[in-house]
Order: sequence, then C-alpha cells, then structure tokens
Amino acid sequence: MEMIGGLGLAGLALYFVLRPLFDHDLVGRGSSADTDLEALFAEREALHRALKELDLDREMGRLSAEEHQAQRRAYLLRVASLLQEIDQRSAGAEQSATAEVEARCPHCAYPRRAEDRYCPQCGAPLQKPA
Ligand SMILES: [Zn+2]
Repeated sequence: MEMIGGLGLAGLALYFVLRPLFDHDLVGRGSSADTDLEALFAEREALHRALKELDLDREMGRLSAEEHQAQRRAYLLRVASLLQEIDQRSAGAEQSATAEVEARCPHCAYPRRAEDRYCPQCGAPLQKPA
C-alpha cells in the first residue's frame, strides 16, 4: 500500500513537471492575458505543492538523493521561467489597463496619458484622472 502511494505521488509529481512543458509548446503565447496569468499563478501553486511533496518523498526515503535532486532542479527551472512569464504578463496587463483609462484633453480632445500633467497637444493643464 505504501509503495503504491509513493509511486502515485511520484507519478503525479512527474505529471506536473512535464505537463506544463508540453502545454507550453502546443498552446503558445498571447491569448487572453488575464486567464493566462491565472493559469500561471495556478501552475506556480501546483509547483510549490509538488516541491513540498518531493521533499517529503525524499524524507520518507521514497526517492534517491539523485532522483530528488534531478526532479527538484526541473521544478525550480520551471518555477523560474514561470515567474519570468508572470512578470512579463503583469507588465503587459498594466499597460493595457493604462490604455483603457486613457482620457482626452478637455480643451482639444487630444488623447492624453494618465500621467500627463499638461496636454501634449495644446499645453492645457490636466487634472489627474479619477
Ligand atoms: Zn489639449
């Protein structure tokens, strides 16, 4: 029974390591940023859980030190690239959010950015958008 449980955990762990790699290549980039971000966060959570289980497996002697090391490295590489991707997506999301609240100058209707204090077109002083 313990053996089966151990194998199941290891299999599950392997599944979590490998699945994102395949998904990543197949699905590609650049669909809806929000759902992508949520998926990335969920994946990061899953990786953290898997890492804990991996350490537990090692403590229980279910994994050799080599297996543990190798799988841990694979997880951490994946986490690192995940974090990088989350950073990129977050920056992109912020940019599009800024674009959405874009307002116009009340004097000349020139499009302004939120951080503009003076209209770039007519030089009229601009209020900070609410
Ligand atoms: Zn203006």
